[in-house]
Amino acid sequence: MSGSDDELDPTRLAAQLACHRSSTRGVIFLTGAGVSAESGVPTFRGKEGYWTIGSREYHPQELATHAAFARLPREVWAWYLFRRGVCRAAAPNRAHVAIAQALVRLGDRGLLVTQNVDGLHLRAGAPPARTFEIHGNIDFMRCADECSVARYPLPDDLPPLERGDPVDEASWARLLCPRCGGRARPHVLWFDESYDEPRYRWTSTLEASAAAGLVIIVGTSAQTNLPWRVVERAAAAGATIVDVNVDENPFAEVARDHGLAVRAPAGDAVPALCAALES
Ligand SMILES: [Zn+2]
Repeated sequence: MSGSDDELDPTRLAAQLACHRSSTRGVIFLTGAGVSAESGVPTFRGKEGYWTIGSREYHPQELATHAAFARLPREVWAWYLFRRGVCRAAAPNRAHVAIAQALVRLGDRGLLVTQNVDGLHLRAGAPPARTFEIHGNIDFMRCADECSVARYPLPDDLPPLERGDPVDEASWARLLCPRCGGRARPHVLWFDESYDEPRYRWTSTLEASAAAGLVIIVGTSAQTNLPWRVVERAAAAGATIVDVNVDENPFAEVARDHGLAVRAPAGDAVPALCAALES
């Protein structure tokens, strides 16, 4: 199958995806920050993520680390509780909803692999069992001492923080591991940590990639290791690769060789692709 940019014509999309409607091979949605940008969630890798502690300004890549948490746990929690408030104030968009509905239709054939920690896919109705949050979820915490790999929802009534607010005593006393009573940490993969299976579904993601017949990449630009491995494995096994991105990126090049590159916002392209997969 050969592809080209900007093919959102419903008839052509339906023709290109026809062979995947009745296939028994898996369909993977691989998503990144571009999906949530249309919901107003910043990437937090840019200026929105900068954070001042004392007289020093920290970059997101410095704060989102195990090393920073070991040294400044309360300040790192303050940053995450601020970010969580931003994420919770955002609403799922048309792309989140279309993916969630497609996953429900596809059942065991469908899988969502997301780098986003904002939880918007789940809030749009994506089935939790078919959603691999490979970088974690900002609405959850787990034991900082790793007494188990269990993740726990953050208390729903934890007050959100404005930028620069400290964590108050009452909130701090609730950010504890329910199992051992030790300090809890955000359930998020940090820059100085590695993917694994029990927390981030590393092995399951790679296995699903090798068995997929179709991978639809949305709003991510191949900056991290696991998404790249997903696409490489699937392409090597003969899968069709579709890339949806407003910008040129390395995945678009792979998609042109193995399927289709769509240069369009996720909110336009993803519902069209999901409709084509169904019709
Ligand atoms: Zn614990």
